[in-house]
Amino acid sequence: MSMKEACQAGLNKGVTEIAFTEHLDVIYPDSNLDWDFDIQKYSQTIQHMSQAYPALKIVKGVEVGLHPSGLEKSKDFTDRGEFDFIIGSIHVVGDKDMHEGEFFRNKSVNEALEEYFLTVNSLVKAYPYFNVLGHLDLVKRYLKFLDCKCGDINWHNYYDIVEDTLKELIYSGRGIELNMSGYRYGINTSHPDFNTLKLYRELGGEIITIGSDAHKPMDIGYKNIQAVELLQGAKFKYLAGFSKQIPQFYKIGS
Ligand SMILES: [Zn+2]
Repeated sequence: MSMKEACQAGLNKGVTEIAFTEHLDVIYPDSNLDWDFDIQKYSQTIQHMSQAYPALKIVKGVEVGLHPSGLEKSKDFTDRGEFDFIIGSIHVVGDKDMHEGEFFRNKSVNEALEEYFLTVNSLVKAYPYFNVLGHLDLVKRYLKFLDCKCGDINWHNYYDIVEDTLKELIYSGRGIELNMSGYRYGINTSHPDFNTLKLYRELGGEIITIGSDAHKPMDIGYKNIQAVELLQGAKFKYLAGFSKQIPQFYKIGS
């Protein structure tokens, strides 16, 4: 969608703040896909949108897909871009894209899930240059490749790794994203799930943004209200937004 379509959809739905987080995956297994984008043009368009839609706070963000071989290049890019908000995400595990199912081939459920959560953990430790970790437990979207469903798995088996990841984020002043796209993909859960939200809060985590992960105008603001209700249930008192990569806290309920 164009930024204009996104802004218009946001306004129609009563959204007051919108973050554009174009993908940047500098290392990607499918070389037919070109993820590079023109920072200058992107920045200019965001500026135009801010002028055209003064009722909307528009945040210049980027979603950096992390890969061990692309960290330096990713940092160079985001340093040049002067972004307000950087999401760090893991889409590729062991040089294989989860989306295509290749990563899951010839792996047991436990092998795949453990490798996924360990990869997230090591990249969070190796790369501190982002503000929130995107869609922790995204692997749930792809369980069809393992012929199983969310409810078949004892997720507590991975909570030690997840807890260590969350602690690393908290101690380094970063946060997490509450991504609502899981409900759209038919897996009936947010990323991360409610138990992980509670764990993050209990560990002292405070920085949390909500995201619809919209790629179409109709999905802008998707389940925003439910996201806030989940946060309230997990005892969060504040939502975070970002400006110049500094969190700004909005009191929930105000
Ligand atoms: Zn993503």
